[in-house]
Amino acid sequence: AKLDGRNTYRFFTPEMRAQSLRALQLENALRRALDRDELQLHYQPQVRIRTGRVHSVEALLRWNHPKLGPISPSEFIPVAEDTGQILQIGEWVLRNAVAQLKAWRSAGLAELKIAVNLSAIQFHQPQLPDLVSQILHAAAVPPDALELELTEGVAVNDPRTATETMDQLRSRGVRLSIDDFGTGYSSLSQLKRFQIYKLKIDQSFVQDLDHDGNDRAIVSAIIRMAQALGMQTTAEGVETDAQLQFLRDMGCDEAQGYYFSRPLPPGEELLDFLKGRA
Ligand code: C2E
Ligand code: CA
Ligand code: CA
Ligand code: CA
Repeated sequence: AKLDGRNTYRFFTPEMRAQSLRALQLENALRRALDRDELQLHYQPQVRIRTGRVHSVEALLRWNHPKLGPISPSEFIPVAEDTGQILQIGEWVLRNAVAQLKAWRSAGLAELKIAVNLSAIQFHQPQLPDLVSQILHAAAVPPDALELELTEGVAVNDPRTATETMDQLRSRGVRLSIDDFGTGYSSLSQLKRFQIYKLKIDQSFVQDLDHDGNDRAIVSAIIRMAQALGMQTTAEGVETDAQLQFLRDMGCDEAQGYYFSRPLPPGEELLDFLKGRA
């Protein structure tokens, strides 16, 4: 350890070294992932609590590397954000998700919508609204069939561009959701100004609903606030019947989680599930 000028020690532990080697390895492997068809999207249904119907599915990125095996998006997306690779990957995600939605709509799920996660870096590209419009237009999918999921940080760190981009996307008909809601620092006035369509209640609050009174208080407050501001609510990470009951009692609109379905590849199992709940 070395003492630097400001009275703090700088460590470079073997663990940190291993971490940065891994990041470097992933960065190199990611460069080829798109060309080699190693990326895939899985889809997780968002279930309306009152009716049991599914109005939309969330696209979640999967990477299966031939040698390293499956790598979690929580691990490789931060790497792709650091290197800028997220722009290319994010565009691929948008195109693929919209193409899949188009296929489902043609296969009888005419009203289905799709939710796509956006990284802050994508969001701050001035050409994002045009790119999104162009992708939707090329696939002949109406803009209100696309929900873009942003985390709270996007709005907080750069409110001016954020407002502009959000206004542009919204004026073209695209819906905006706040992901992992409750873990960031967005204010009520911001939410109102951004005309957010949906709040996704972070799964960390949902997990312990059964035995944590604070989490119950937080979740019910989020739902009431969203209702007062005219926003939809989706609870993430719903795994048990008891969690679902509580959310239903509180008036939460949608639930997403293993209780209903894991994220699935776009095959027969998923199609059957969606058709059974259309
Ligand atoms: P997220 O957007 O908050 O996605 C929810 C995560 O919770 C997903 O993890 C999902 O598989 C997982 N999940 C769903 N239901 C349950 C449940 O009942 N219990 C538990 N314990 N987990 C559940 P996943 O797929 O590993 O994705 C992790 C994160 O990676 C996502 O969190 C999102 O932030 C990011 N991500 C995934 N795909 C993309 C993408 O295409 N673009 C960007 N920018 N980020 C993505
Ligand atoms: Ca999400
Ligand atoms: Ca989330
Ligand atoms: Ca998350």
